[in-house]
Amino acid sequence: MLVVGAGISGAATAISLARSGVRVDLADLRSTPPAVGSGINLQGNALRVLRELGVWERLRQHGYGFDSLGLRAPDASATLIAELPGIRTGGPDLPATFGTYRPVLARILLDAAAAAGARLRFGTELTGLDQDGDTVAVTFADGTTGRYDLVVGADGIRSRTRQAAGIELTTRDVGMEIWRVVAPRPASVTRTDLFLGGPLYLAGYCPTGEKTLYAYLVEPPRHRGDLTLGEQLAVVHELSAPYHGPWDEIRASLADVESINFTTFRTHLLDPPWNRGRVVVIGDAAHTFPPTLAQGAAQSLEDAAVLTELLLTHDAVTDEMWAEFTARRHDRVRTVLGAALQHCRWLLDGDRGDIPGLHSSVADLVSRPA
Ligand SMILES: Cc1cc2nc3c(=O)[nH]c(=O)nc-3n(C[C@H](O)[C@H](O)[C@H](O)COP(=O)(O)OP(=O)(O)OC[C@H]3O[C@@H](n4cnc5c(N)ncnc54)[C@H](O)[C@@H]3O)c2cc1C
Repeated sequence: MLVVGAGISGAATAISLARSGVRVDLADLRSTPPAVGSGINLQGNALRVLRELGVWERLRQHGYGFDSLGLRAPDASATLIAELPGIRTGGPDLPATFGTYRPVLARILLDAAAAAGARLRFGTELTGLDQDGDTVAVTFADGTTGRYDLVVGADGIRSRTRQAAGIELTTRDVGMEIWRVVAPRPASVTRTDLFLGGPLYLAGYCPTGEKTLYAYLVEPPRHRGDLTLGEQLAVVHELSAPYHGPWDEIRASLADVESINFTTFRTHLLDPPWNRGRVVVIGDAAHTFPPTLAQGAAQSLEDAAVLTELLLTHDAVTDEMWAEFTARRHDRVRTVLGAALQHCRWLLDGDRGDIPGLHSSVADLVSRPA
């Protein structure tokens, strides 16, 4: 079997299948696993899947768990407007939320995939595929080819697998851009706080370890991604200036940052089915979330968990199996994505909305295993 894309959903798929004795090639166009990147906020339902994959014990040593979410005002003392109790959606013995560094998560997942027996192939870009009966013929950019009985496209928002399988999907901009930076953690930061109001849509931070956090600023589209690091630093300084409390310390430490991550919020959701014959897409290839509820990676991990459970418990790959897959995934993803987009809409409209209500309804849903 071929898994295209060694990101979160692809690595998770490879771990489960290889551990059960399936021969898995895990191919990624990058020449090496990512060495730098931003932080990530993993909700309990993501941690539940990571624990099932056997990586939680290692991961927990490289991050910061917490059980509440703060909402703050953009005033001189960063007034706490509300403290929302985090719901432990992964179960009582996992934190509600866990912040970590993306390259660390990637390393841990890829190590587990290799240890389970998956063959990791970096610098291997899928360029085309052709289905013939019960097999899929695949071509890679380096001219090599392969033949597989199943191809899982876990190759992200611009999935080449999705295109090659003839699946059409339109991705749209949500109307927001985000700046993210890794910085030292002020002692006062022990959970995520979101600053609502003020000149930006959102300003916030998430602890990722005893010494680190990542902080983010969300602004209207200005397409300013193509700046030098020095220019980006100046933008982050300027954008964060109206925010205080821990932001004052974060801003003061920015001179030492080595990279700033800039990206646009985009979204899409594939209607069922998510397969064409023996090619299926999961994760961001099937659904892309704005990060307002930190559910994109969580839903991608759930896709991997459900897909591999079905593949390992069915004797054959049938239309019924694919129907069961999307029946278990599509509506749940649509509901969670709808909530993440609702959060964006409130921010775009300057409407405070019912953020506590939104968080708790999503937490209720994702507390039930996928
Ligand atoms: C700004 C931002 C912040 C976010 N924050 C959070 C958060 O805090 N919590 C959360 O749960 N989610 C978050 N998300 C969402 C999360 O990052 C994604 O949902 C998740 O990374 C999707 O994983 P994936 O494995 O499906 O895809 P990806 O992570 O995109 O991985 C795809 C992989 O496929 C490879 N690839 C691409 N094309 C090919 C090809 N042709 N051949 C071979 N390999 C290929 C790529 O190199 C890549 O390694 C955030 C998203 C954004 C944009």
